[in-house]
Amino acid sequence: MKLLDGRSMAAEIGRGVVDDVERLREAGRVPTLAVVLPGTDAAARSYVGVIERGAAKVGVHCVVHELSGDTAELVATVDRLAADDEVHGLMVQTPLPPGVSATDIGTRIPPHKDVDGMNPLSLGRLALGLPCFAPATAAAVLEILHRGDIKIAGIHAVVIGRSPVVGKPASLLLLAEDATVTICHSRTTDLVSIVHEADVVVAAVGRPKMIGKGFIRPGAVVIDVGTNVTESGLVGDVDADAVASVAGALTPVPGGVGPVTTMLLLRNTTSAAAL
Ligand code: NAP
Repeated sequence: MKLLDGRSMAAEIGRGVVDDVERLREAGRVPTLAVVLPGTDAAARSYVGVIERGAAKVGVHCVVHELSGDTAELVATVDRLAADDEVHGLMVQTPLPPGVSATDIGTRIPPHKDVDGMNPLSLGRLALGLPCFAPATAAAVLEILHRGDIKIAGIHAVVIGRSPVVGKPASLLLLAEDATVTICHSRTTDLVSIVHEADVVVAAVGRPKMIGKGFIRPGAVVIDVGTNVTESGLVGDVDADAVASVAGALTPVPGGVGPVTTMLLLRNTTSAAAL
């Protein structure tokens, strides 16, 4: 079984980002990512810390705007950052305050600054194969397959999860690269048989260790997007210990999709700064 090591992939992507940052700084532009943290959720704060540390490593200027959970303050902050020419990338960390939808907030992020693909226009452009920023987590799935030398064209990919931030965009990206894609969700009947048909399985469910050995066809590639905080620490949606004996390749949790996601967010920021 091949371990698809997201940490070493992220380090390699990071070296390219450092070069991009250097070129931009020489041209008088400091690539800047604004991260809006709408409330006091501990997991969200911790993830934003990961982005800050990653940005510091590659030289991207990252400014975190910690808010109180007030909707008017959130909207005003996003609008101000959207209009600020010194901000190249803008993302809003979830969870959002009650009553605020990701679509409402995403719509306020200009597509050229939408480095985490939150604007519905970005998802629409992705569906049409037009240039756009895809959500970084979905893009990380494809980046890992590329860097792991996994064939995509012609294969059967099964994506478990249809959220607008992971499952749907990952499916569109796989389709754009000529995979045959099946999307599964909570109403899918006979999930095990469908997943067992897959050459590549993308698990983005949010249920700790739900995908066991019986789901996986021998030799299949398994990308575990899940990040579930449990009493025994951070675990994926895949039961890695069980699946390792049958999968051809597997991403670990932690150390798989997560680090690649963070680095792609920063790479998107340098791309946005170069526009
Ligand atoms: P989400 O919005 O809750 O979506 C979960 C999806 O899984 C939904 O489409 C849901 O179906 C489906 N689902 C739930 N129970 C299922 C079941 N028993 N069988 C089949 N499908 C089922 O979650 P998300 O934001 O996409 O995140 C998914 C996971 O990825 C979470 O663990 C999250 O923490 C993680 N994540 C990781 C990163 C990273 O950088 N590594 C980034 C983002 C998210 P319905 O649509 O029918 O409800």
